[in-house]
Amino acid sequence: MKHSNGFYMSAIVCIASLTLLFSSCSKKDQALNDPTPAPTTVEEMKNYLANQGFDREHIVFEKDRVIIEDDIIITIADLQQRVADSKAGPNTEQRRGTYIVSNAYNSDIKFYLEPGIPAVWQTAIRGAIANWNAVNGTRLGMSIVTSAASANTRIFMGYENANWIARAYLPGSDSRPGVTVEINSKYNTMSATQQLFAITHEFGHTIGFHHTNQTFGTLIPGTPTSDPNSVMNSTVLPWNGFTSWDVRATQILYPQ
Ligand SMILES: [Zn+2]
Repeated sequence: MKHSNGFYMSAIVCIASLTLLFSSCSKKDQALNDPTPAPTTVEEMKNYLANQGFDREHIVFEKDRVIIEDDIIITIADLQQRVADSKAGPNTEQRRGTYIVSNAYNSDIKFYLEPGIPAVWQTAIRGAIANWNAVNGTRLGMSIVTSAASANTRIFMGYENANWIARAYLPGSDSRPGVTVEINSKYNTMSATQQLFAITHEFGHTIGFHHTNQTFGTLIPGTPTSDPNSVMNSTVLPWNGFTSWDVRATQILYPQ
């Protein structure tokens, strides 16, 4: 979720190729039997992401993770798995599906709030949970837990003098919710309605949504190629409810 809209269009343009990036092969068992693979180089991973349509300037490698489009985080391990899958070539015998949250977790995704989260953000977090819980026709559910041990997703404060308001992990290849949501304290004084939008957006990443709903829209006849008021657009807006396509996408991803 970003504050300025400088990269808004490029975010939309590259969505078409997101499907592949965030798809998975059920090749885990196969991979486990493989001999130690050659390590995937950073350059290889960058090339892979660039081939998926991402702007190289918005691919940032950190120690054990990569940050794409400012606020979407995936682990290096997951990225290496995707690169390895792509090297294996197309395999018509295996179905590919998006990394989303499995039924073991998606009806009650448990968030833990680290100490030190300002009251305004706690309000936004509770509001975002209420937003997602209010979507009709889906099995999706979320709640707050008071112990880190029982949580799926940890929420904590960070600070960077940058334009990301908050950032979140996508679900991993283990089909668990994204492991953390980090909030940038630089935006502690942003309007409450924008904070609510931002956290609702990040929780969308936590359950597997990318920027805009085009990925899912392709499954629906008559779906627009962009949805300017969607909560999953990358630029913050005042919260004004989910769009009808946000709701439809959620119902498709997490049917009742
Ligand atoms: Zn985002």
